[in-house]
Amino acid sequence: MTVRIRADLEQLPGYVPGRSIPGAVKLASNEVPHGPLPSVAEAVATATVEINRYPDNFGSALITELSSFLDVPAPQLAIGCGSVSLCQQLVQATCTRDDEVLFGWRSFEAYPVLSHVVGARQVRVPLDEHLGLDLRAMAAAITPATRLVFLCNPNNPTGTAVRRAELEEFLDRVPEDTLVVLDEAYREFVTDPDVPDGIRLAEERFAKGRHNIAVLRTFSKAYGLAGLRVGYCYATGTIAEALRKVYVPFSVNAPAQAAAIASLRSHDLLMARCADLVAERERVRTALVEAGYAVPDTQANFVWLPLGDRTEAFNAHCLTHKIVVRAFAADGARVTIGTPEENDAFLTAARSFLS
Ligand code: PMP
Repeated sequence: MTVRIRADLEQLPGYVPGRSIPGAVKLASNEVPHGPLPSVAEAVATATVEINRYPDNFGSALITELSSFLDVPAPQLAIGCGSVSLCQQLVQATCTRDDEVLFGWRSFEAYPVLSHVVGARQVRVPLDEHLGLDLRAMAAAITPATRLVFLCNPNNPTGTAVRRAELEEFLDRVPEDTLVVLDEAYREFVTDPDVPDGIRLAEERFAKGRHNIAVLRTFSKAYGLAGLRVGYCYATGTIAEALRKVYVPFSVNAPAQAAAIASLRSHDLLMARCADLVAERERVRTALVEAGYAVPDTQANFVWLPLGDRTEAFNAHCLTHKIVVRAFAADGARVTIGTPEENDAFLTAARSFLS
């Protein structure tokens, strides 16, 4: 007799993270290249003194700080162990077996895994010819069984972003009993003024009595806290409450909560770092386009190279140059923007791949 693992898990590939290779430049996980600010490191050290105690379960101090930072009511906020945990909690809170979860594809790799685990059916809608989310096709694919839509804006891994008019048209077409999860993990890197701030958009819709939207943000990317695992959700009070019910107790630890609070207090410094990365993003994209790559416009801290069946060869070539990118077999490679030196090393590898 052996323990019986669910048979359906045999077919489930599981989430595959970007690799770290000693001595190589890692441009595979959309992290920022900067270490913590001194104020953040100090907050973590102070919180560590009390790690014999459980953390504040729902992060009340962080929620209070976020509430005033975002100017939204605290009961409409929930924190999670990274925004990926909040993706999972939202699926758990809305879906059971045979419900449908809809998302554009390709998009964030965790969406299929999390949907599968609750027994929901995945509906993947192909990206449009510019590698952006095809919101009209997504709206047309909604059925009475669709409980949740993941809308990743900007989209990981293509970097493309949907603009206000098309997003509002889409939201108007989604039935009230289907939740739209606006995953804004890369929001802080957006420079296109036509790409709406999801929190303000959600606020406007709540005021009009449209309640089926939840916005996700994270401290992992622009705020540089990927290793500490903290993200948050802004939604209606009912949804925030449901998120708290399915929350794994104490899953956001005290140093993470303290670091997030310190980061919000140093927001301007962190955003200045983001501005440097955005300038590098534009430089890298322009150089790649000049070299002959069809890189779509990106609003995130990464670029997408749609290489199709040359993806594996490109990945291997980058590895020989000691650069780790994120390759998606037979589709393309996603490359995170790093320091200017790291980006130059990557550009050298990318140019020599074509010659
Ligand atoms: N959403 C998107 C679109 C992402 O790309 C990521 C990280 N790769 C996440 C959510 C999760 O980030 P975290 O759990 O670190 O907050």
